[in-house]
Amino acid sequence: MSREACALIDLDAVRDNLRVARAVAARSRVMAVIKSDGYGHGLVRVAQAIGEDVDAFAVTDLDEALALRRAGFNQRIVLLQGPFEAAEIPLAAAEQLELVIHSAWQIEAIEQAQVSAALQLWLKVDTGMHRLGFQADEVAAAWRRLTAIPAHTVNPEIGFMTHLACADDRDDTMTDRQIEAFEEACKDFGGPLSAANSAGLLGWLESHFDWVRPGIMLYGVSPFSDRQPLDFPLRPAMTLRGRIIAVKHLGAGQKVGYGATWSCPEDMPIGIVSIGYGDGYPRHAMHGTPVDVAGRRASLVGRISMDMLAVDLRGMVTLPAPGDPVTLWGEQPRPESVADSAGTIAYELFCRTPSRVRRVYL
Ligand code: PLP
Repeated sequence: MSREACALIDLDAVRDNLRVARAVAARSRVMAVIKSDGYGHGLVRVAQAIGEDVDAFAVTDLDEALALRRAGFNQRIVLLQGPFEAAEIPLAAAEQLELVIHSAWQIEAIEQAQVSAALQLWLKVDTGMHRLGFQADEVAAAWRRLTAIPAHTVNPEIGFMTHLACADDRDDTMTDRQIEAFEEACKDFGGPLSAANSAGLLGWLESHFDWVRPGIMLYGVSPFSDRQPLDFPLRPAMTLRGRIIAVKHLGAGQKVGYGATWSCPEDMPIGIVSIGYGDGYPRHAMHGTPVDVAGRRASLVGRISMDMLAVDLRGMVTLPAPGDPVTLWGEQPRPESVADSAGTIAYELFCRTPSRVRRVYL
């Protein structure tokens, strides 16, 4: 019996979730966000699954973009943070990678760059998130500088991109203000517009513009913080799977795990599962976090160890046996509820699932 810590990746779920994105934003083009190794689902495998049905991929940096090119993808690829240094610009041009320009130093670097093909650029507009991008009153000057660069270096049709800070909260009026500010800042220039992440795509139809940029919804997770049931059927693509490696019968008052933080309230069975924080399961998940043991609901007790965790097996008529499968997140329990219980978000759970957790593609 191997230790068994694996992430089952259902690529059909990713395809189905993309269909939802396409149906909701039917008039927009789709830039699928597959950065950070496809949110932990595997960059190339996710790209293979959806490549035919998206208009572009979005990644963080040149390394991810080149990995896609090396794997044979010739779709449009957008580097969401543009070049990190001037030396990347000629390579980006040669590989036809699109750059998001957010700072004056990048414009200067492009003005001086020698490139073999015209660069396709997006200008990042800061409409209130105050992370990356030009302020509204700086956009015209940035656009003029970029369009003054000869067309053999920069394609004069420049796109505009902004990022929504609060779209995950459907009651927050900041999103409306960002959308208005974005339209106002870009209205004189032409060029395609892009604002919507998953939450914008599903919750704010006015944010769709020409291109939507879904990330987390492709992996089957609700982007909304209130966890209200979605009107849209998203299927989690990743199932974190371990197995029962021991079943113990403990007496009332006996304690479980490091720090002896949890005591048995009565005589009871405990299951030890082959997954720990070394497998990306969040160490701060609270007692009571749901865990599925061979199709039945159990709950977490005690502290998470590096390679193991313990579950309360009370209420099970037949106890599981060593080797029985345990689902830490997936269809049930949902990654959103595990993340909530650990004070984090499903994005982090996925991105922190390390390579020692074998990816098994369905
Ligand atoms: N656009 C940008 C610029 C991003 O940084 C991200 C993700 O962080 C996305 C789109 C996708 O966001 P989400 O995963 O919430 O859909």
